[in-house]
This record gives sequence, structure tokens and C-alpha cells, in this order.
Amino acid sequence: TQSIQMPMAMQYRVLRDNYRTYSVVRRSPIHGCGLYAARRLEKDSMVVEYMGERIRDILTDYRERMYDARGIGCYMFRIDDDYIIDATMKANQARFMNHSCEPNCYTRIVNPDGVKRIIYFASRVVLEGEELTVDYKMPIEDVKIPCYCGTRSCRGSMN
Ligand SMILES: [Zn+2]
Repeated sequence: TQSIQMPMAMQYRVLRDNYRTYSVVRRSPIHGCGLYAARRLEKDSMVVEYMGERIRDILTDYRERMYDARGIGCYMFRIDDDYIIDATMKANQARFMNHSCEPNCYTRIVNPDGVKRIIYFASRVVLEGEELTVDYKMPIEDVKIPCYCGTRSCRGSMN
């Protein structure tokens, strides 16, 4: 089991070896399928890396149009100005983490091994069986995507 006292590189190696045992995908009352804690997760421990294809920023518009034309739901997560993780075709279970206005995970871009990576961390102790959620922090837009997180502080929409 990992400890937050471990250096980031060591925490990341533990994550890579063990993340499949930390969470499981199941139907969610929030939306579609969600990600659930498969064991107790400690506060500020790494839960899962958002994995996919690492693509350059200039490719994202093209890919979004291609997925849209084929009716494929698009899953992209920006790392920085230059790179994006595209989890639409190649992904791990991190893609299934739903949005909540009162989340129990947070996102950090970390560089544990010379590569910038998107990692979800637990923001508190999470017990086995709880749904794992994160604030998507979507930009505010006129066309609202409704939120069904069901928490007391729900903002009503994800954007
Ligand atoms: Zn909400």
C-alpha cells in the first residue's frame, strides 16, 4: 500500500503495479457507468492515472470532428498547452469517473518519471464501495449539461 510520505516517483510505481485493484467500473446512479472504490483509499493517495493516447494539441479539433461524425463519445483531457490525453479509443477505467459538485477525488498533473501525467488523487479517506468522483471543472457555457450528482451543493449543471 502507498503512503503519501513516499516520493512521487515511488508512489507512481506502486500505482502502476496496483491501480487495477483500487477501483472497479459499475453502473452509476449519476450517469452511465461509474468508478467505485474497490478498497479503502487514503487521503491524498493516487487512485488512478487518466490513460489514453498522448496527442498534440493541433490534432484535437480533427479528432473531435471525426468522433462526432461517427457518433462516438469523445473523452479528452488536457495536460498542458501542447498535449492532450485522448481516451476515446484507448483508455483505462479512469475514463469512467463521473463528475460531482462535492467530489472525493481531485486531479493533479504530475511528472513522476520525466513524463507529465494526469492522476486522480483521493481528497479524503474513501471507503470500499463509494463511487469515485471528481470536479470536471468544465468551462461555463450557454448550453448547459445537467448534473445529476445528487449532492447538497449541486450546481445543477456541469458547465
Ligand atoms: Zn452536481
